[in-house]
Amino acid sequence: MGLGANLGDARAALDEALRRLGELPGVHVAAVSPCYVTEPQDRADQPWFHNQAAALALGPSWTPESLLAALQEMEAAMGRPPEGVRERFGPRPIDLDLLLFENQRRNTPELTLPHPRMRRRAFVLVPLRDIAPALVFPDGEGIGAALAKIPFKIEGNSIFQGP
Ligand code: ADP
Ligand code: MG
Repeated sequence: MGLGANLGDARAALDEALRRLGELPGVHVAAVSPCYVTEPQDRADQPWFHNQAAALALGPSWTPESLLAALQEMEAAMGRPPEGVRERFGPRPIDLDLLLFENQRRNTPELTLPHPRMRRRAFVLVPLRDIAPALVFPDGEGIGAALAKIPFKIEGNSIFQGP
């Protein structure tokens, strides 16, 4: 999954989200990427983000839908205004995205899997590659090939990929 934040103490928000994830029943946070500071991609008029990727080991009762619901509940508990109130692609105290769930696909209004925008976002793919360098998407493309298709620059822990 992908974590992001660009309001308040973003770094602390990512840490808190990871702590809360580990407290969900049947969820083990198996791997966590380094934290990157990233240029906002969809809308430039907002603070830079902090982004991280995490791999979860899940008990058998979890489904993509139940995990998305848990992530959205966690976003709300951490102060993210509900949809309809907040601005699309605007600043947020926490953003929790379901990137992949095994090799499953979904195409409903609530849930698209793999995450529909992840492959054009260096702020998602770079931390994901750190924890899963051999990852292959359900259509057979590898994560390295996906990254090679998009323009971005890394300097230290900063990722540049503007709008
Ligand atoms: P983004 O994370 O792309 O900036 P938002 O977090 O504002 O966008 O989008 C949340 C909306 O996206 C919710 O309505 C949610 O149902 C929908 N959505 C669809 N697929 C996913 C997914 N794989 N992970 C998280 N949210 C998703
Ligand atoms: Mg989101």
